[in-house]
Amino acid sequence: MAFPFAQNNEVLEIILDGLADGILVVDGSMRIVFANKVVSRLFNLKRDAVGRDVVEVVIDHRICEVIRRCSESGEAIQQEFHITINRRDNNRQSVLSVDAEPVAGDLKERYVRVILRDVTHRVETEQVRRDFVANASHELRTPLSIINGYIENLSDGALENKELAQRFLGIMKKHGDRIARIVEDMLTISKFESANQDPTRAGIFDLQSCVTDVIERLQPLIEEKSATVSMIPAGPEAPIAGDRFYWDQIFFNLIENALKQNLCSGLNIRVTLVDQGSRYEISIADDGVGIPSTDLPFIFKRFYRVEKHHSKEIKGTGLGLSIVKRAVEAHGGEVTARSEPGKETAFVISVPKGDLTQDADTDANDADGETNQPAEFSTV
Ligand code: ADP
Repeated sequence: MAFPFAQNNEVLEIILDGLADGILVVDGSMRIVFANKVVSRLFNLKRDAVGRDVVEVVIDHRICEVIRRCSESGEAIQQEFHITINRRDNNRQSVLSVDAEPVAGDLKERYVRVILRDVTHRVETEQVRRDFVANASHELRTPLSIINGYIENLSDGALENKELAQRFLGIMKKHGDRIARIVEDMLTISKFESANQDPTRAGIFDLQSCVTDVIERLQPLIEEKSATVSMIPAGPEAPIAGDRFYWDQIFFNLIENALKQNLCSGLNIRVTLVDQGSRYEISIADDGVGIPSTDLPFIFKRFYRVEKHHSKEIKGTGLGLSIVKRAVEAHGGEVTARSEPGKETAFVISVPKGDLTQDADTDANDADGETNQPAEFSTV
């Protein structure tokens, strides 16, 4: 690798190799005269890029075209491209920002410096946000227009018929509750996304007592469904460094899901905690209808619901599992799902215990502070 414009090549190369972006310098005949190490990483190169034709390295002719136009016109050009980078294990779809600018100075030949930036994460995040807004508006619009329809019916005369009016009000209440729940789930997601504090610094608490509390809160639904919810503990206690508000959400959503997705009575739900030394493995399993294998890869996506199981009655927002995933990941863990419909559907969480030597004073989980389930985010 040689940098043609500087005396102190070595220092410059160290600096340029340390950058997050790929840097190329291309001469007038589209030959690469300088490339930092990031270029090799970006395009998975096995050979040095210097001395090669730019098309051989970047593969995508649209990127070459940007460089050529920049060289010929002397104008700076910036564009983004969706490209596929061939890798041995998988072909990754990436979005690359290409920023080409003629090199200033009185050079005999026109050189172009190109900054290549992998903006895949930013583009994907923007897409997730756009989808979220579109899906949220759609999910809110349906119950809202149902409520408005019934209000019109009532004001058009249905109010005179007490029995009919009662029925309409009942339906409106159900859809009003649904809107409230969607908004609540959206607030929870937004709280997780805007949290600038590491939840594992919130303090230390007992995961098992969190499960017990959630089971207690869900008791009316458990009785209504004649279900059995049991816990196999990891030991007398299962301490973890984390934010109890997050874990309330995790257990509540998973146990409530098992209860509400299963219409027949006598369901068995088992929460098992296993102490694996520095981690816990937690599984929440039920013997209900389960999740078809074709839906399993998508259930953690926002607003995804397995429609086949949905009766006319309103069951959920499709946000519950995405909240679970986010909350588990915020604690450095991961969650997976497996399902054998009718036999066993299990959500398995593997999570590090975290730093259990934290100062007791930092334990915000036992205090009546912010982290301990703020009222506005309560799920019940
Ligand atoms: P929802 O608010 O609709 O429950 P979730 O994100 O919590 O949304 O769950 C997504 C979908 O996954 C649900 O609509 C349901 O079809 C399916 N699901 C989740 N847990 C279970 C379970 N224990 N048994 C059967 N289906 C489940």
